Amino acid sequence: MATEIRVRFAPSPTGKLHVGGARTALFNWAYARGRGGKFLLRIEDTDPERSTKEFEVAILEGLRWLGLEWDEGPDVGGPHAPYHQSLRIERHREYAQRLAAMGRAYRCFCSRERLEELSKQQEAAKERLAYDGLCRRLAKEDSDRRAAAGEPFVVRFAVPEGETRFLDHVRGDCVFQNAEVEDWVMVRSDGNPTYNFVVVCDDIDMRITHVFRGEEHLVNTPKQVLLYRAFDAQVPEFGHLPLMLGTDKKKLSKRTGDTALQDYRDKGFPKAAIVNFLCLQGWAIDGERVVFSVDELVQRFDIKDVQKAGAVFDIDKFVWMAGEYIRHEPLEVLAANCAPFVLRAGLMTAADMDARREWWLSIVTAERERLRTYADIVGRMQYLFSTDSGLAWDEAAVVAARKHENRVVTLQAFHAWLQARVQAAGMSYDPAQTRDAAKAWVTSNGWKIPQLFQPLRLALSGQMGGPDVFDMIAWLGVERALVRIDDAAKRLV
Ligand code: GLU
Repeated sequence: MATEIRVRFAPSPTGKLHVGGARTALFNWAYARGRGGKFLLRIEDTDPERSTKEFEVAILEGLRWLGLEWDEGPDVGGPHAPYHQSLRIERHREYAQRLAAMGRAYRCFCSRERLEELSKQQEAAKERLAYDGLCRRLAKEDSDRRAAAGEPFVVRFAVPEGETRFLDHVRGDCVFQNAEVEDWVMVRSDGNPTYNFVVVCDDIDMRITHVFRGEEHLVNTPKQVLLYRAFDAQVPEFGHLPLMLGTDKKKLSKRTGDTALQDYRDKGFPKAAIVNFLCLQGWAIDGERVVFSVDELVQRFDIKDVQKAGAVFDIDKFVWMAGEYIRHEPLEVLAANCAPFVLRAGLMTAADMDARREWWLSIVTAERERLRTYADIVGRMQYLFSTDSGLAWDEAAVVAARKHENRVVTLQAFHAWLQARVQAAGMSYDPAQTRDAAKAWVTSNGWKIPQLFQPLRLALSGQMGGPDVFDMIAWLGVERALVRIDDAAKRLV
């Protein structure tokens, strides 16, 4: 029977979920889901100073929000619990003892001063900076005696001679000379094991078959592979995912865009667009298509197709993609996704939204083309909630309206025409019919359409572009629209 594929995402809860971390989780998840494997979540919280419960909760929440459910993990449990690294310390100690008993690890009593001196000498001689193995040569009795006398020590891994290979599906076969790996510290002087040590203990215990993680961990892999070999354990297959770069081609940072997944969620990027865009950071479904579904990802994702070169996180493309998803969402879904932003901005209450459902849906319908994020709806419909006199005007819209010499006369005439028309119709107003009639009326006056429409759009919304002006009149209500037109006629003299 083929071995079950078991992958894991192992975040340290020392910050918000980074988009790079989210991509790592996504690729691991997709790999497992596409192959009937298991996706594990392990919280690497061994740094008590920097790890917090809040970050942990936020990471779990972010992953679930993206739809990346795990089969084993801190809150769902599983056969290899606990899934908090800090709770596995006894297990790590056992592993350390085993290694010491095998003679593959040793106590190092070298003081900080000695190590600093050593680095200085190596630097001066232009040699590689590495521990020189002094304590490796200590006789066992000496080492035991010094430890018993209370002298502080760290435990180092005794790197064997030779060369080591491992399979990296992104970078190909990797070979390194063991001589290039120093005898690294496995257990600190306070008794706490280091990342490189515990990650291997946990991955062995959790029967991890594939380790896909960020490229920044590539330097750690030789140390880890040597450890698997020392324990005579199966070495997992690796895949080091390319760095995510900003548009400035430097490591992704706040300079060129938000780096926390949560920020994109808070800004109203559709979840499916986020998942889709994260996939493109190092992977492509084929040479052409950029928009694809999660199901397609699961069916088609293979770590072997991930590129080596850094992936540029282009926020403009991301925004474009968000807009694409918004344009294809069913209206009810889109309205539901936009609603929290409108509520949070205080424009409407949930009760208003229910009571004026048609009104709300017709605005979402009309604005859909212009939305790039759900949050955009707030700015787009703000004008409907402003006071009617003294509405804030966009500068470019003012310039466009002022180009029409007869703007004031036109607005005044339209005000009278509209008022008379609505009164004659028993105060009822129909946008489509009014639009047709207004166009005919403008032409019959010998005017051009923009002469009315540009100042009118400014009067109603203060903006340059937007939905049809006759729809805007309907949303505002004719009375408020008339107040705005009258106010604009005065302001535009
Ligand atoms: N806790 C490590 C990190 O957050 C995980 C490293 C790994 O996946 O091996 O970077």
